[in-house]
Amino acid sequence: MKMSECRELRNARSLARLNKALPESFPAPVLTHALNRRWTPPMPRLAIDSYWRAHPFRAERLARALAARSGTPQGWTWQLGPDRESGLPTRFRSPPAPYREKAFSRGPGSCCVCGQPVYRLGWHEDLWDRGPNRNASWHTACVTAWRLWNAPSDYAKLLRKIQRRRCAETGSRLWKGAEVDHRVPLFRVWRDHRTMAWPSLLSFWGLPNLQVINRDAHAAKCASEASERVRAPFSEFALPTSALI
Ligand SMILES: [Zn+2]
Repeated sequence: MKMSECRELRNARSLARLNKALPESFPAPVLTHALNRRWTPPMPRLAIDSYWRAHPFRAERLARALAARSGTPQGWTWQLGPDRESGLPTRFRSPPAPYREKAFSRGPGSCCVCGQPVYRLGWHEDLWDRGPNRNASWHTACVTAWRLWNAPSDYAKLLRKIQRRRCAETGSRLWKGAEVDHRVPLFRVWRDHRTMAWPSLLSFWGLPNLQVINRDAHAAKCASEASERVRAPFSEFALPTSALI
């Protein structure tokens, strides 16, 4: 059997399974995306996952909007802990996530990234009038957002496209080895902006602060940032002590 026939056969089976499992309400853009894929996802959950993976910047914008809806939990400040057992992030390179911290978690049925209720199929709106899914603690969109915030280099190809393949620092053509960079470096976010309201802080990990730049421009930017760190040294733990309590 030819590859194209094999795919057609598999897609026909997947489509039958998808149609059977499809709930009465289902987000139209997700369905359109699923039906246009080379390989049809056989389950609604896989269709949603595939949709957000294909639109990571849309996912992270949504995650930030949902976080803004939740707001900063009362009494929370961005802190780092000495180890994982502390229940706090250990590096300022990870985006702050109050609802992942034990003391501020909203429990089952709430997303640990944005704090909002998680509904059926990991969706962020209750299209089915069933209330939150108490077995879920992540929106599917927030899973993608979290991946992007933590490993933006994996999304270089898409970022290059958004920038029309031009270096964000120099405006010249992007070369093969171009690298993803945070416009405002994360050490500076921690040093200068950590008291900013939490939902706004997330922008430093998202599209508004991401750029692709050529390797030589990146090296020059990193060198200047390194000398800034030497001139104004800081330690992750040399904080106003109130931030550590
Ligand atoms: Zn979420």
